[in-house]
This record gives sequence, structure tokens and C-alpha cells, in this order.
Amino acid sequence: MHTFTIEGFCDWCQTPSFVTKHEYIDGKCHHSCEKCLSFAVMDVRQFNLAEIEFRAKSLAQS
Ligand SMILES: [Zn+2]
Repeated sequence: MHTFTIEGFCDWCQTPSFVTKHEYIDGKCHHSCEKCLSFAVMDVRQFNLAEIEFRAKSLAQS
């Protein structure tokens, strides 16, 4: 499901490489190389979960 066809720069190890795109729910995106994939997937998932939780709390308060 992740393809490394983009020639770019890995945001995790800061190395030029073929990368895959990771999208955050706030519209931002980062790229990771194959070596950093599992770490990147975990990172993005945690960010998105935190963001969902934050939004749920903000909604509950308003
Ligand atoms: Zn990397």
C-alpha cells in the first residue's frame, strides 16, 4: 500500500531517498523512506489520534 516512487527527502532520517507520502488529518503531509516506514506510520497514527482526541474535547466544551 506504500509505494516509494517519489524522489524526495525523508522527514524522519533527513536523507534524500525515494519516499512515500504520509498525510495528517490536519492537512499536512510528511514523506518517509522505506527504512523509516514503520516508525513514520506509528508517528502519523499517534499524531492523528491525538488530533481526533483534541477535536472531540473541543467539541464537548463548546
Ligand atoms: Zn528515512
